[in-house]
Amino acid sequence: MKSSKLEKIKKDDNLYLFQNYGNRLPVCFTRGDGSYLFDQDNKRYIDFFSGIAVTSLGSNNAALSKALHSQVDKILHTSNWFFNREQIEAAKLISELTFPGKTLFVNSGTEACEAAIKTARRYGMSISPDKFEIISFTGSFHGRTFGAMSATGQEKIRKGFTPLVPGFKFLPFNDINAVKKELESNKNVCAVMTELIQGEGGIKIADQKFVTQLEKLCKKHKVLLIIDEVQTGAGRTGKFCAYQHYGISPDIITFAKGLAGGFPIGAIHTKDAVAALLEPGSHGTTFGGNHLACAAAGAVLKELKKKSFMDKIRKNGDYIQNYIKKLKGKTSCITEVRGMGLHIGIELDRPGMDLVKKALEHGLVINCTSEKVIRIMPSLTIPLSTIKEGLAIFERLIIEEGNKS
Ligand SMILES: *Cc1c(COP(=O)(O)O)cnc(C)c1O
Repeated sequence: MKSSKLEKIKKDDNLYLFQNYGNRLPVCFTRGDGSYLFDQDNKRYIDFFSGIAVTSLGSNNAALSKALHSQVDKILHTSNWFFNREQIEAAKLISELTFPGKTLFVNSGTEACEAAIKTARRYGMSISPDKFEIISFTGSFHGRTFGAMSATGQEKIRKGFTPLVPGFKFLPFNDINAVKKELESNKNVCAVMTELIQGEGGIKIADQKFVTQLEKLCKKHKVLLIIDEVQTGAGRTGKFCAYQHYGISPDIITFAKGLAGGFPIGAIHTKDAVAALLEPGSHGTTFGGNHLACAAAGAVLKELKKKSFMDKIRKNGDYIQNYIKKLKGKTSCITEVRGMGLHIGIELDRPGMDLVKKALEHGLVINCTSEKVIRIMPSLTIPLSTIKEGLAIFERLIIEEGNKS
């Protein structure tokens, strides 16, 4: 049935908005409750996407909602000319959940990556004026502003925007010998920047051996190790950060997506000596660390700190992965399942967009990345009963899809 409300929305979108998101799915959500979303016609959907791993506590979470309302009634914004208790509180929680150090707040993932890149440049300059190169990896994604885009190892993101920022070098992901060779022959590298699970790159997971060796090589060659936790951070993988699964100690970590549960925010967290590289006046942002954004982050971080919160993410993530692995035996179109916690990719033998659209028609919100990878990242608070409800829909549709071929 065609929705007249949606037709009007589509028409106005085309009239008033840039059409850079040419692939918007045919639905306009107007309200949410936990892991359910409701569209313009009040149809209910199960949310297995959380707005690209952003609504970490689901929609309408009581603790987050309370923190936001109470902050709205107090003060929204003062700028970084003044002290800010909400910033301090959120930064303290990040330190407790990661490592002792300092936090800089910005407004998005790409800005967090920019801040990391600028810090790395300062680090290099402190040693030699030529030490400005940054190693990144093929298939990576770090954002859409110039520095972060130049660090992104995907041609489709960079296409048509040259000249890019110089000084980025791409090596194959998970190839430690390539990194070793580069660091041994090139003294101008100041940092290595990587995700541990390439999210936009199709849920590709870094090998333990690669990461352990990478940390060693960075230490040996006095190169900063930047771990981009924009998608994997804030509990997504069943630990607060993905790097914590690997037992390494990075110099800079970036955050954004899930950190404030849906309010725009970004951050980098570093050891004290690294933070000192951005001396007064060297970097800044008008909105970054806004009272409201940091009140939201504080509320999310307090939830994440609760005992057994992470256990539940891992348990529910394993449940989904095991369920999909069993499905693999019932249909030919799944080639691989991979993931950590509630960050799961299902690789298909064909493009996944048809399945995403079909699922939406049947009341299930999933996503497709890297063309063939169905990405499942529900809110961290999703109940097992809702997971089961969503998986039942997914099972029916993927078996139907497999029967097509
Ligand atoms: C989404 C993402 C970014 C960019 O974040 P924006 O908020 O969209 O600018 C950077 N790095 C990673 C790993 C991401 O997943």
